[in-house]
Amino acid sequence: MNEADAEIYDVVIIGGGPAGASAAIYTARADLRTLVIDKGLTAGALGITSKISNYPGVPGTVSGAELVGIMRQQAESFGATFTTERVVGVDINANPRVVMGGTRTFQTRAIILATGSMGRTSTVPGEEKLLGRGVSYCATCDGAFFRNRPVAVVGGNDEALEETLFLSKFASHITLIVPTPEMKAQPHVRDEVIAHPAIDVRTGTRLKAVEGDKQVTGVRVQSRESKEDEVIPVEGVFVFLQGARPITDYLMGQLETTDDGCLKVDRQMQTSVPGIFAVGDLLCSHIKQAVIAASDGVIAAIAADRYIHGRKQIKTDWS
Ligand SMILES: Cc1cc2nc3c(=O)[nH]c(=O)nc-3n(C[C@H](O)[C@H](O)[C@H](O)COP(=O)(O)OP(=O)(O)OC[C@H]3O[C@@H](n4cnc5c(N)ncnc54)[C@H](O)[C@@H]3O)c2cc1C
Repeated sequence: MNEADAEIYDVVIIGGGPAGASAAIYTARADLRTLVIDKGLTAGALGITSKISNYPGVPGTVSGAELVGIMRQQAESFGATFTTERVVGVDINANPRVVMGGTRTFQTRAIILATGSMGRTSTVPGEEKLLGRGVSYCATCDGAFFRNRPVAVVGGNDEALEETLFLSKFASHITLIVPTPEMKAQPHVRDEVIAHPAIDVRTGTRLKAVEGDKQVTGVRVQSRESKEDEVIPVEGVFVFLQGARPITDYLMGQLETTDDGCLKVDRQMQTSVPGIFAVGDLLCSHIKQAVIAASDGVIAAIAADRYIHGRKQIKTDWS
């Protein structure tokens, strides 16, 4: 399933929020072959924000998804390519470096990490114990193991809904557990999920525990309205919830982090490994604002150009 992309990119940017999309504007404009891999327009902090009115140069109010969309179009106009994939692993020591998506593998000289800080801060009882025994965070990776079996998906954004639709090719029945009163996804994705005969949507429902001893046997959920617990029998559970922790799981400990899970970088946004940069909300010292994430992205993009061309001096558009 994990097909290889034959092209070797100069820069692969993981995450296409304001940090990643701004980096792409600069790397593409510097003629670097640039690929941005993002798991979903509304999976990031800016993507879920309904109103932004303090982004310089954009007067009035826009939605976060609109603002990210404009940044992505600008990067595409300079030649950057965007693809929708969840990154599940990287090999930063290979030459060229390898970035693994759920369905494809990419090769690159430099990597800019821009996955933000919407990672979960805690798990529910049973989740860690049953990880790999029915609990998964990637339907495109593990969906085929659940052919003709009932599963649950937890989450309500584009990522959760798209993974639900992917799972519908395999699972016999899917219960979609949405913690919020409504699904927060693009209307055409939401409508497809609602219309699907094998998907049962439970909005306003919280995941309380994953049940099972050696394998998942069910999920314990609670309705926010009735406050009643219910155990839904399933053999798999795919969790796509968001929190406020830097998303670094796909790095599998290859880069040094602080106790808070943030990546350490120098003034050029470079991590301890040359050619690997990190920007935006992934960083602890970071003020969480879109313009600051964008600025980080630009610094990393210029440093990546310098790294790839072995230059000591920074070259900008105007110098
Ligand atoms: C509710 C809310 C309101 C806010 N309001 C404002 C405001 O008014 N003004 C302002 O300036 N800032 C605001 N912010 C802060 C701002 O949104 C963030 O600082 C900014 O979005 C950080 O940018 P980023 O690119 O680092 O991360 P994000 O915007 O979170 O983007 C990260 C991207 O990485 C992708 N990603 C994550 N993991 C993976 C993976 N494994 N594989 C592939 N892609 C992945 C996500 O899909 C996402 O697109 C707000 C934030 C929130 C949560």
